[in-house]
Amino acid sequence: MNRPREKLPLPLLAVPGCFALLVAGLLLIFWYRIEYFEVCPQCARMRDVQEWLVPFTRSSYYTHHEVGDSALTTLLDEWRYVDEHEHQWLLVRGVGPGSHELTGEGVRVAPALITPSVAPFVSLLHQHTDAETEAYWFARMTHPHHADFVRNVADRCAREQFADAAAFRDRLRQIADDERRLLIERLGRVHEPETRTPPRLLYQRPPR
Ligand SMILES: [Zn+2]
Repeated sequence: MNRPREKLPLPLLAVPGCFALLVAGLLLIFWYRIEYFEVCPQCARMRDVQEWLVPFTRSSYYTHHEVGDSALTTLLDEWRYVDEHEHQWLLVRGVGPGSHELTGEGVRVAPALITPSVAPFVSLLHQHTDAETEAYWFARMTHPHHADFVRNVADRCAREQFADAAAFRDRLRQIADDERRLLIERLGRVHEPETRTPPRLLYQRPPR
């Protein structure tokens, strides 16, 4: 004789259901999160951002920001080379939702603002050249066509020693000529940025 199949009580059936819902909810919450960092092209400050998004949307219900100074920011503040401004945050890189990689406009200028060789290079410029020369380099640091060029010059200067101001200026001229030739080979025509005196970082989008 068959025994009638025993039915599980409803509250017991609800436990795995609730657990599955909880896990799915947590997965959605963690999947719809984006993390990225941005740079301000006027003061070289950096900002880390975490945004928690409403699932399946781009609207965030919670955002966390953390702003930090770069080595360049410290120098610019010391020399009073930053005017009062509202930060112009440009997205550099990030990730999310999930493993989706993010890059933004800032990725093209970040090399000349936050690469470690840039602050020592700017210090040498400040120490051994004049405001006009500083303005020439500052205008290029925040220009998308020229930022890699500045970073390359800064990297090469960082590997050398200079006996005095004249030696630095001579070597800078040679390195800059080399790198500029490579830049023109790579890009064809380059848009020359507007320079600001007294020296200021100024973000300039090249014409399309
Ligand atoms: Zn700023």
